[in-house]
Amino acid sequence: MSRHSTDPARRLRRMHDELERAYGPQRWWPAETPIEVILGAYLTQNTSWKAVEVSLANLRNAGALNVEGLRALSIEHLRDLIRPSGFYTRKAPAIKAFIAMLDAEFGGSLDKLGDTPTAALRDRLLALPGVGTETADAILLYALGHPVPVADEYLRRIAVRHGLLDPAPGKNRKGYEALVQLTRSAFAFDPDANYAQLFNDFHALTVAVGKAYCRKTPDCAHCPLAADLQMSRKEQKKA
Ligand code: SF4
Repeated sequence: MSRHSTDPARRLRRMHDELERAYGPQRWWPAETPIEVILGAYLTQNTSWKAVEVSLANLRNAGALNVEGLRALSIEHLRDLIRPSGFYTRKAPAIKAFIAMLDAEFGGSLDKLGDTPTAALRDRLLALPGVGTETADAILLYALGHPVPVADEYLRRIAVRHGLLDPAPGKNRKGYEALVQLTRSAFAFDPDANYAQLFNDFHALTVAVGKAYCRKTPDCAHCPLAADLQMSRKEQKKA
């Protein structure tokens, strides 16, 4: 791969390599079991992970950090337990709808759910209430091990700032899918790659750099991606 390629996908791959050199391999999701990951993906919508941890601790103490426990909880009790993560009147029925789908279509088995082909499973998850693209992809990748990229706000911000992504579609479905496509293209050069692992690491790396440097006011001077940003600006001047 040319060191100076201006192709957005190649540049994004090179940025991944740069971040991997800076931070090392990640293997990351701040939760333990598949059902905990799924709950986390619902609960983290519009709230911090710290708030999610309080809700997960409540669920654990109530013996409901598993499919059986969630099934047995009343909706009112579930609402109370996840109240710390906010939007609980919307999130509780959404979690219940997931369990109902799991029971009705997959015999209550997360393994059977995970055996569904990726595209069909993504569509099924997206048809559930309270599941947008990022939630569906986080469940697919982190809970069920499917090779899909998770294109979150950290990655969107980095891609826009580096001129890799047209900011016009914004944060809507079209903008999200464009970012997913860009990420897929970035990793399309290695036929032997373990894509679930690559997308897992890539997401973790972009979260790491996003939290440390690419905040609302970016700290580009100290960021591992500063060289790419400079190159991008030079290219923009030439154009
Ligand atoms: S902080 Fe600057 S160099 Fe780092 S990712 Fe954000 S825009 Fe790029």
